[in-house]
Amino acid sequence: MSPPRLNYATCRLLFLPLFFLFLAACATAPVTGRKQFIIIDPQTELRLGLEASREILKKEKICRDPELNAIVKRVGERIARATGKNLPWEFWVIDKPKVINAFCLPGGKVFVYTGIIPVAKNEAGLAAVLGHEIGHAIARHGAERLSLGLAAAFGEVLLAEVLDLKDPETRKIFLTAYGLGATVGVILPYSRKQELEADHIGLYLMARAGYDPREALRFWQRMRAAARGKPRPPAFLSTHPTDEARIAAIKRLLPEILPVYENNPHRYGLGENLPAPHCR
Ligand SMILES: [Zn+2]
Repeated sequence: MSPPRLNYATCRLLFLPLFFLFLAACATAPVTGRKQFIIIDPQTELRLGLEASREILKKEKICRDPELNAIVKRVGERIARATGKNLPWEFWVIDKPKVINAFCLPGGKVFVYTGIIPVAKNEAGLAAVLGHEIGHAIARHGAERLSLGLAAAFGEVLLAEVLDLKDPETRKIFLTAYGLGATVGVILPYSRKQELEADHIGLYLMARAGYDPREALRFWQRMRAAARGKPRPPAFLSTHPTDEARIAAIKRLLPEILPVYENNPHRYGLGENLPAPHCR
């Protein structure tokens, strides 16, 4: 990435507000308590989420299978309640049998593709999917990625300013290293970290919602089987912690999560099996 071309005066103008922005940019992820760098405010994020969800509802074919919708809504609302967040939650099923995926936009708009229904298999499997996706949303992973991208772009400008008095050759090397660092060192591993964090939050949410968190392990094993023999892994898997790393991490977390489930007075176990989608 080449640094944006800004003149010296613009740099000075940018430096102070950005400095205060950076000070104000500390957030904490729920459940894991990880410190985050986020410079997008929640209202902006909410607005972007609502706009995007309206676009999706215009574009996609919504599945009107009443039985399936009732189950998705039931499981979704239990997971939503477990977050303790009062958002305008909505749960939609999109009729795309080949798409093994689901996602949650900021503001609590959740979309499930029919392709993931047979892999989720039962309510607890679906709770694992929704817990993971809602986990990404409540940990504000989208805003975090966007913030890191902005910081990577502006950081180079700021660095050029700070290092202005130094030897030009040193500066060049430093900037190159930082450029590399910003692309390879920070942003890529972050998305793996976010994936594992979404798994962690998701396990906790499903246990709080009353679903047996051990089903998450079996769900990811079914995902692995579903991915086998396909030229490209399903989108849900393509964010790269390997299946083995993910399954191992979930196994490590279960002793911490299982008591949350066992002490829950409302336990549904695996819940009902999901019906095969009959979209109209
Ligand atoms: Zn994910």
